[in-house]
Amino acid sequence: MEKKTVLITGASRGIGAAAAELFAANGYNAAINYYKSRAEAESLKEKILRRGGGAEIFRCDVSDARQAAEMTAAVKARYKTVDALINNAGIALYGLFTDLSGDDWERLSAVNISGALNVSKSVLPDMISRKSGCIINISSVLGLYGASCEVAYSAVKAALIGFTKALAKEVGPSGIRVNCVAPGVIMTDMNKNLTEEDMNALKAQTSLNAFGAPLDIAHAALFLASDTSKYITGQILSVDGGLVML
Ligand code: NAP
Repeated sequence: MEKKTVLITGASRGIGAAAAELFAANGYNAAINYYKSRAEAESLKEKILRRGGGAEIFRCDVSDARQAAEMTAAVKARYKTVDALINNAGIALYGLFTDLSGDDWERLSAVNISGALNVSKSVLPDMISRKSGCIINISSVLGLYGASCEVAYSAVKAALIGFTKALAKEVGPSGIRVNCVAPGVIMTDMNKNLTEEDMNALKAQTSLNAFGAPLDIAHAALFLASDTSKYITGQILSVDGGLVML
């Protein structure tokens, strides 16, 4: 049987990199998208190849629709199909809403929401004609609850949730599933600027009194990409250790 291919945006580091490793270990070719971290993407690819998996790296700024289309064409040239897309690339921004600049908002929405739209648009025509495929969007618990000093980030992550629900309805009749994972606090570079006090406060708000690991999110994505979840679409799966946000 031919191997399936997963295209993971923002897979050079953090959650995306963990997903690439996990999917490759489970028989997928991993198409690793990176933007700035080429060395990390290369070493991830080498690691997967050394373990006997399939992997290739693809540079693309997901906020650019033309680059997204070119990336998908390159993945298909290499692996024929994109069977699963994980829209994971994202950037965060912390600060008072009243200090948010127009440029900050443009960039945040361009990467986090336009990026997911761009790459989804580029893979869907083929998925629709094959009547098979799935898309998994990585949102955030902040898209569900909102957070002070992360108003713009909460807004774009909420937009991803609306995107997931609506697209699932539109492409469901074509046999394509669209779901969303809403991570809580996961130990990656994204949180490296939080103070110890902030981290302790966040940990105390989880039922498990613990932060998550990138692999926790990767496992949820693998489940949502697998046939085990073939009757699940349009859903938001929180993976957050029971986080109850104030
Ligand atoms: P991370 O460690 O900061 O990694 C971010 C990834 O996104 C990197 O691979 C980066 O690639 C990529 N990226 C950024 N801008 C890009 C662009 N324009 N085009 C393509 N790729 C781009 O973050 P993470 O924690 O793994 O986050 C992954 C996703 O989970 C994000 O959507 C984030 O919002 C979401 N999330 C994270 C947490 C958390 O606590 N960590 C919680 C909730 C949701 P390069 O380095 O190659 O540029």
